Amino acid sequence: MPERITVAGVSVDTRHWIGGRRVASDGTFADYSPIDGSVLGEIARGGPAEAEAAVAAAREAFPAWAATSRGARARILHAIADGVEKRLEELAIVETTDNGALLRSHRRGVMPRVAHNFRFFADWLLTLEHEDFDTRGHTNHVSWDPAGPCVLITPWNAPLMLATWKVAPALAAGNTVVLKPAEWSPLTASLLADIAAEAGLPAGVLNVVQGYGSEIGDALTSHPDVRRVSFTGSVPTARRIAASAAANLTPLSLELGGKSPLLVFADADLDLAVDLAVEQYDNAGQVCLAGTRLLVEEQVAEEFTRRFVEKATALRQGDPRDESTDVGPTIHPRQLEKIDGFVQRAVAAGARAVIGGHRKDDGQYYAPTLLTDVAQDSEIVQEEVFGPVLTLQTFTGEDEAVRLANDTRFGLAATVATGDRERAERVSARLVAGTVWVNCFFVRDLRAPFGGSRQSGVGREGGTWSFDFYCDLKNTVTAP
Ligand code: NAD
Repeated sequence: MPERITVAGVSVDTRHWIGGRRVASDGTFADYSPIDGSVLGEIARGGPAEAEAAVAAAREAFPAWAATSRGARARILHAIADGVEKRLEELAIVETTDNGALLRSHRRGVMPRVAHNFRFFADWLLTLEHEDFDTRGHTNHVSWDPAGPCVLITPWNAPLMLATWKVAPALAAGNTVVLKPAEWSPLTASLLADIAAEAGLPAGVLNVVQGYGSEIGDALTSHPDVRRVSFTGSVPTARRIAASAAANLTPLSLELGGKSPLLVFADADLDLAVDLAVEQYDNAGQVCLAGTRLLVEEQVAEEFTRRFVEKATALRQGDPRDESTDVGPTIHPRQLEKIDGFVQRAVAAGARAVIGGHRKDDGQYYAPTLLTDVAQDSEIVQEEVFGPVLTLQTFTGEDEAVRLANDTRFGLAATVATGDRERAERVSARLVAGTVWVNCFFVRDLRAPFGGSRQSGVGREGGTWSFDFYCDLKNTVTAP
């Protein structure tokens, strides 16, 4: 197996990063580009032995990193952010080549936010107070202690973005980390290991292991030395991870799937509502937060659909490296199959494809699709497709809108388009969702909590909530 491969002109190490060293495995797996299906390289295929080695490295590095002052940890996180900014163009092109998401959004949105993730959590750490209060002369001293080695497992749809939402607060809190990126997008995690080492992060504080979740996952999540498991991915995998982590009652953070509603009331600015709806095709619909269920008030449904079709059919689908592309490929032939399966079963059950409903002629591209005539209890309305597929249902009045919106086992996000502020407040209060956007979408402030209700997740990330998870809170009571 070559130790390094060149991807879009960038040299990437294909091995694990364990204890400050590159480590190969006997086996490898092929990493494909969704852009043209080409093999980018063979990547180290870790299993229980690599999991054991990475956790051991994280355990050994923990005491010294935990004892490092907050200020010194923050300085290293800022240096990692500097490294991300310095290599921004390389990270952007490698991520696009590896997962097929738009280069222009990696350049201008995602990678700057990756750097910001490190800066934000470095700075937020410094604001966390060690609280003191008094009980009949006794002092209660509440401290945010590092928890220990953390296992972080991430998906392929926004690889470095989602990984660093976890890596940054975990490291800032004084923990050590074993990161396992998705096998469909392993490359930028390897570059992050280089950047962190260059920034002066001590050996063993951040470890990156590659491989299939089914082969390396269990050994990581059931390990008795692991103090936290944070996972972003699908509900079925989350169930397996929760069962595995239960062996040691390891605290879990789960950021899972969604089937979020986008409610359009008759009093909404229809152009804005259409823009919001078309935005749900971003990243070829492979976005956990996507508002894939369009719920439109009866009296504006026809006009909304007309304007939506006009706008959605003007989207340019193609090579994600091209600045003018709006919708790129799906990640993998298996994902394409899965998406098409959902659509064909829906059509067989009576749904009508207003636009799309099929793959494109070549590559892993799926045409942006809008389905109507769908039943509330049908698979297409209830299950996460994770592709550019939206359904449209109509409603009359707030009660029906809220009933349809909440009739799901998920609760990640919801979007409400309305021109009436009081209605926005009433409806938002009744929606079951971790995030509700009113007349906007995808606005994310790292100070605010992020996560899902129901089967969309357990726990919240962001600001103090991240530290709440990654720290062991301790109260020391001292007599007068
Ligand atoms: P997935 O569950 O198939 O895989 C996610 C990760 O889990 C991968 O790294 C995989 O290797 C690993 N894994 C698989 N089996 C494992 C096991 N037994 N033990 C440990 N790890 C294991 O998900 P995916 O297809 O990569 O991602 C898509 C899903 O992620 C969608 O459901 C999407 O909604 C969700 N997602 C959620 C959020 C959020 O913030 N809520 C963000 C992005 C994606």
